[in-house]
Amino acid sequence: MSAYKLLLLPGDGIGPEISAEAEKVIAFLGQAGVAKFEIERGLVGGAAYDAHKVAISEDDMKLAHAADAVLLAAVGGPKWDGVPYAVRPEAGLLRLRKDLALFANLRPAICYPALADASSLKRELVDGLDIMIVRELTGGVYFGEPKEIVTLENGEKRAVDTQVYTTHEIERIGRVAFELARKRGNKVTSSDKANVMRSGYLWREVITALHKREYADVQLEHMLADALGMQLVRWPKQFDVIVTDNLFGDMLSDEAAMLTGSLGMLPSASLGAADANGSRKAMYEPCHGSAPDIAGKGIANPIAMIGSLGMAMRYSFDNAKAADAIDAAIANVLAKGLRTIDIKGDAPSSISTAQMGDAIVAEL
Ligand code: ATP
Ligand code: MG
Repeated sequence: MSAYKLLLLPGDGIGPEISAEAEKVIAFLGQAGVAKFEIERGLVGGAAYDAHKVAISEDDMKLAHAADAVLLAAVGGPKWDGVPYAVRPEAGLLRLRKDLALFANLRPAICYPALADASSLKRELVDGLDIMIVRELTGGVYFGEPKEIVTLENGEKRAVDTQVYTTHEIERIGRVAFELARKRGNKVTSSDKANVMRSGYLWREVITALHKREYADVQLEHMLADALGMQLVRWPKQFDVIVTDNLFGDMLSDEAAMLTGSLGMLPSASLGAADANGSRKAMYEPCHGSAPDIAGKGIANPIAMIGSLGMAMRYSFDNAKAADAIDAAIANVLAKGLRTIDIKGDAPSSISTAQMGDAIVAEL
């Protein structure tokens, strides 16, 4: 069995606490002979700033390039509010995404039956919900040029962001969505604003052509992004895979997250393009942030972090057995009523970060 090279970046806030629980799962998978890991550790975000006055060091970037996958917990917090913009904690995250060319962001929104009452919607609307949002992550209005604030002759300021997409960028994210759909509910909803944006018009044209050419067996529908936002809170179970651009994906995936009950539950994967050997760069991280309000208290929910490790097993290490086992262990501890504080709801008591990690390992 060849070893999986994994770079751990615990980062800031609750990051190191939830990272420690993922390490318990890694250790268990190793002992059980399910997977072999070669672990490296690095600093990112505020932790890297405190140590080296950078958002991520060149040495750690080298480790990221050399790894099969990066497992990052969270960055940022009020402690670093005043640091220079170029080395703010989030810059570490953006550098990783950009340098590793992680263009496909996968965010599953799964509502576990045991938590359906914590959703912002009625139980019957979300119970069993299982959506995969595929967000384009390295293009669009967040990166397009020109991007500037200019002062006009009359003293007014003018801000410009530019939405840019090429055929290639749209096609490769579309392909990720169609491939995923084939292994799930076989349906893709592509979202854009083709009615008012040129980039949206091209988006729709390219996705439609790709579908016709290579994925006619998958059901495809197009939905304007505003309508999709509305449908997500009206009847979310109509969706299987949603594919959309960087900006809409940012908003829609946060919206979908709330349907599931808690931010502390949701993992994510960011994938690069496959090379000649079929392997791809990848980074896995919880959808939530560093939760500075509860950092250091030992009460953070480690499930999103452990679920992110599960996604690494599935998408980087081709180990569906380990990934399924992790997902089942999470579902089982929830079904048993074990709750960290963020998902406590009406439960009589809550458990610590470490207790939740131990419970998941015991279940495994
Ligand atoms: P970012 O800007 O990095 O996305 P954010 O401002 O969206 O961060 P988070 O750090 O995600 O905020 O925290 C939002 C709220 O959710 C906080 O009250 C935090 O305590 C809570 N929270 C986030 N993650 C967890 C977790 N794993 N366990 C428990 N509570 C959490
Ligand atoms: Mg946030």
